[in-house]
Amino acid sequence: MNKDLSNAEHKAAMQKQQDEVRSKVASARIRRGVIIYLYGNGKGKSSSAFGTLARSLGHGKKGAVIQFIKGKWKTGEVNFFKGMPNLDYHVMGTGFTWDTQDREKDIEAAEQVWEKAIPILKDSSVDIILFDEITYMFKYNYLSVEKVAEALVARPEKQNVIITGRDAIPELIEIADTISEVKEIRHAFKQGVKAQKGIEF
Ligand code: ATP
Ligand code: MG
Repeated sequence: MNKDLSNAEHKAAMQKQQDEVRSKVASARIRRGVIIYLYGNGKGKSSSAFGTLARSLGHGKKGAVIQFIKGKWKTGEVNFFKGMPNLDYHVMGTGFTWDTQDREKDIEAAEQVWEKAIPILKDSSVDIILFDEITYMFKYNYLSVEKVAEALVARPEKQNVIITGRDAIPELIEIADTISEVKEIRHAFKQGVKAQKGIEF
């Protein structure tokens, strides 16, 4: 094989790709915050969301987490992020459904943590807000999706929002800018592997 020719071909292909990328970059001119929605039944939604939060905090940006927890696991992300400068962290006061089995109490806890989110969604100094596992609140009708969607849409222009949860909620799909479905291909749990501290929670 002629190595020079292959290099030339490679160069031409890279040049073409560079031109395409440059033209796409040049055509993206809008500066505004986005709503990122991560749903699906595979593992990786909260991990991705907290990774993006770490990325923002790493740039000195100001963030908030509103976490609607399942069960009573004390997660590593709470230990790691709570108390960090530039971050406001609120966790729903109860694990829900299969732990509390008390609908009224769950609704009260959901409303309480949502109340914390309201002023944050009006504060333009907050760059990024993560609503972790919020879709369950809509699935069980603990919070009104219309009310939440309205507040998200009315947020400050530069503010970014990440929503996670297993369910694809139509009202959220309608308002989100970036949507990724995390699809389960395989999960160790199905092979009987116990949930691990640091991996699962
Ligand atoms: P992670 O927090 O690990 O990114 P996730 O946010 O995508 O997961 P959740 O629905 O919030 O997924 O579930 C959280 C926990 O459930 C994690 O411990 C995760 O490993 C586990 N899990 C996620 N998907 C599955 C699955 N398909 N089967 C069994 N357990 C799962
Ligand atoms: Mg999650």
